[in-house]
Amino acid sequence: MPLYEFRCAQCGPVERSFPMSDVPEHITCPRCDAASPRRITGAVLHGSSPAKRLIESTERSAHEPEVVSSLPPARSAASPRKVSRNPLHQKLPRPE
Ligand SMILES: [Zn+2]
Repeated sequence: MPLYEFRCAQCGPVERSFPMSDVPEHITCPRCDAASPRRITGAVLHGSSPAKRLIESTERSAHEPEVVSSLPPARSAASPRKVSRNPLHQKLPRPE
């Protein structure tokens, strides 16, 4: 179901889903119970909803990936690998 935007005079925009064939002209605000008229925008296609922003950022990353100009700093020089001194660990299988 598409999202429709209503506007409460007190609380601002309120988004609700309705079937396209059954969209009321007013709803009661979920916060203050005031009558909130439907905005002319109709079904939501604007970019302010979190879902829409996520979709846009995902599409953007496919076409315009962030450019990396150098390798990340090497970790081995700064922090040498920790070596266990526990003799039981000597018996564990080793990577090939
Ligand atoms: Zn309200």
